[in-house]
Amino acid sequence: MKKESIYGLPLEQLIEWLQDHGQKKSRALRVWDWLYRKRVANFSEMTDVNSECLELLTDHFILQSLREHTSQESVDGTIKFLFKLPDDNLIETVLMRHKFGSSVCVTTQVGCNIGCSFCASGLLTKHRDLSGSEIVEQIMKVQEYMDNARQGEKVSHVVVMGIGEPFDNYINVMDALRIIIDHKGLAIPGRGITISTSGLADKISEFADSDLKVNLAISLHAPTNELREQIMKINRVYPLEKIIQAVEYYLAKTKRRITLEYILLKDLNDQREHALQLVSLIKNIQQLININLIPYNPVDEHPQYQRSDHETMLAFYDVLKKHGINCSIRLEHGRDIEAACGQLRSKQVKANQG
Ligand code: SF4
Repeated sequence: MKKESIYGLPLEQLIEWLQDHGQKKSRALRVWDWLYRKRVANFSEMTDVNSECLELLTDHFILQSLREHTSQESVDGTIKFLFKLPDDNLIETVLMRHKFGSSVCVTTQVGCNIGCSFCASGLLTKHRDLSGSEIVEQIMKVQEYMDNARQGEKVSHVVVMGIGEPFDNYINVMDALRIIIDHKGLAIPGRGITISTSGLADKISEFADSDLKVNLAISLHAPTNELREQIMKINRVYPLEKIIQAVEYYLAKTKRRITLEYILLKDLNDQREHALQLVSLIKNIQQLININLIPYNPVDEHPQYQRSDHETMLAFYDVLKKHGINCSIRLEHGRDIEAACGQLRSKQVKANQG
């Protein structure tokens, strides 16, 4: 019998499964507490759970399916982990330390089919979706690392911005978020979670209709269809009009702000005219929009893209500010390690192939 990871079960399903197997609800709550609050590495460590229940769990579930393959630590405390999945695929997960807490950037797919032309991950096409448990387990592994360091650190924020398009793996990502948010478990509040999409407009609308109250970010990266198609081929399927329409629906439905991510690429999308086009694109919704300007991290794979000069970034920022747009320039983490999304994995996969 193939065992499932126990991290794929939301609390209600764990209760139901254990009740179906003759166990009480109170025992399921204790198991949940051992999993997410006490964070054991083996079922046998659940000392107040009876042996019959432990046997059931051991026979049907596994606790640790991800193995740490390698990791890199930056001078600023950012750590990039490369985890090996049971089928030997590799995924990246990043821990970032901020003044406001510790944030984990999770991966949602092995590879990615969106094909953003500046992204190291996009070179390795999608092999498969991650399961909900594999998404939850990335956070558990990072928390385990912190627990072992014994400094009382706790994951306080999650960004779903690692390799993959989360809305192309919608159901598993939503399931994972429900487990991460559960107040009896990891209890990471929805306001501390951000999911980032490349702009799958129909899923943005579906997400607006869902009960999940987490932050939404959209990778915009260009203010016109012509330019966006050059760097994000997904724009042919979901052009800016469709995205803005879905954003308007989301804003009207949820009344929550949206962040638009904009990577500044030297001489390509970072000029004053682009800033003005961006202002015009969002003029009807700008009250509920934050723009996050992101300095580009050049990667060997895409020598055509370079980082904008500091002055150019500031000039772009000034144009947006002068038009009353809420915007910021993202602080960078881990510049001294393979920090751009997918770089460590892509290097490792190439080494394995070579
Ligand atoms: S930036 Fe994100 S969506 Fe685009 S190719 Fe890379 S991983 Fe995929």
